[in-house]
Amino acid sequence: MTLQQAPTHADGRQPLERSLPTDFYLIDELLTDEERRIRDRVRAFCDREVAPIINDYWERAEFPFELVPRFAELGVVGGTLQGYGCPGMSSVAWGLVNMELARADASVQTFYNVHSGLAMISIAMLGSEEQRQRWLPAMARMEQIGAFGLTEPEHGSDSVRLETSARRDGAHYVLDGAKRWIGNGSFADLVIIWARDDDGKVGGFVVEKGTPGFEAEVMTGKIAKRAVWQADIKLRGVRVAADNRLADSRSFRDTTRVLTATRSGVGWTALGHALAAYEAAVAYTGEREQFGKPLAAFQLVQEKLAGMLAEITSMQLLCLRLSQLAEAGKMTPAMASLAKLNNSRKARQIVADARDLLGGNGILLEYHVARHFADMEAVFSYEGTDHIQALLVGRQITGIQALS
Ligand SMILES: Cc1cc2nc3c(=O)[nH]c(=O)nc-3n(C[C@H](O)[C@H](O)[C@H](O)COP(=O)(O)OP(=O)(O)OC[C@H]3O[C@@H](n4cnc5c(N)ncnc54)[C@H](O)[C@@H]3O)c2cc1C
Repeated sequence: MTLQQAPTHADGRQPLERSLPTDFYLIDELLTDEERRIRDRVRAFCDREVAPIINDYWERAEFPFELVPRFAELGVVGGTLQGYGCPGMSSVAWGLVNMELARADASVQTFYNVHSGLAMISIAMLGSEEQRQRWLPAMARMEQIGAFGLTEPEHGSDSVRLETSARRDGAHYVLDGAKRWIGNGSFADLVIIWARDDDGKVGGFVVEKGTPGFEAEVMTGKIAKRAVWQADIKLRGVRVAADNRLADSRSFRDTTRVLTATRSGVGWTALGHALAAYEAAVAYTGEREQFGKPLAAFQLVQEKLAGMLAEITSMQLLCLRLSQLAEAGKMTPAMASLAKLNNSRKARQIVADARDLLGGNGILLEYHVARHFADMEAVFSYEGTDHIQALLVGRQITGIQALS
């Protein structure tokens, strides 16, 4: 294990050896060189380019567009996808990318996840070869940005009941309806709108920027993920070519295949938030003195830090195994749900504990924990709420559908 010296304290107390806080079980040893290289590249990008600017964007609720071209240079867009200019990285590497981005900032990670995950995976998984060739290379280069429009004002957890319609009209479909919470939706070049056709079957329809009848308004007043934009979308007689329907999107079951594929990334994302908050808490409690000694010297504080590390270590092992299963084609939807449920719950507690350990400074953006604390609330609810994940796992355990 890598060891480092704690700083000598002014009162002459002996410095202690302590372990670097976040790899207690030497999980780094289980990664390939390539996975470590990708993680380190993303971490360096985050340290250099995201961390210094993000609090300001978060506070102003502005999206840091300046970072968009930098993603293309990082070589991580498209994640595990092969070909079409995508990096074809391992599932573990893709998880590490999500973890590192979240460790830096949830908004930046969400932008990446919506574009490179939800939108590109929909096209890769459900598009024809012609559709993949048409859209994926430009998306991999970040010349075209994607969005994923499933949630509606009246249908969140029950998006299976979505009402947006796609009426066939000769060589076109005509879309009518509304979408809500659509990340990147106000500026994306391609928005995949999930809508119900004349036969009641759900399909994914690619709406290209500038199509008449498509209106998107940025949602305001958020207390989480303030530096990334979600849109309220209105679709009024939006005509798209029949060729814009993703060829293999024939039912809601196909939509859920995409959601399962991206859900494992949420487990890694929650881990990233937990790591950031824990690292900040370890650093802060080592420095801040009360009653004449560092906070870290109090038993109650050490107990809290130990509990946080225990949870982080279990989250790391769970993520690694889940991604190995995904790589081997053995990950089931319930396995992905279990990771989202478990890691979101744990990370939510860890960011709250870290916020507590920073005292009043825990609510100041300057100390970074406050942002993770607020952002984790959105992670807890999006891509399927905690209840919904529990019900999906519960169905697997009991064989009984309790979701509806
Ligand atoms: C920051 C953010 C980004 C997002 N990005 C996107 C995006 O890019 N694209 C997109 O399509 N969507 C997106 N979403 C939407 C997200 O997926 C939904 O918010 C989520 O699915 C929950 O839906 P809802 O908000 O309507 O909550 P609801 O479904 O109304 O749930 C409210 C509460 O009721 C509970 N509940 C609902 N049904 C049941 C049940 N059967 N049993 C027990 N409890 C139940 C829920 O667990 C929750 O506690 C985003 C959301 C957020 C917050």
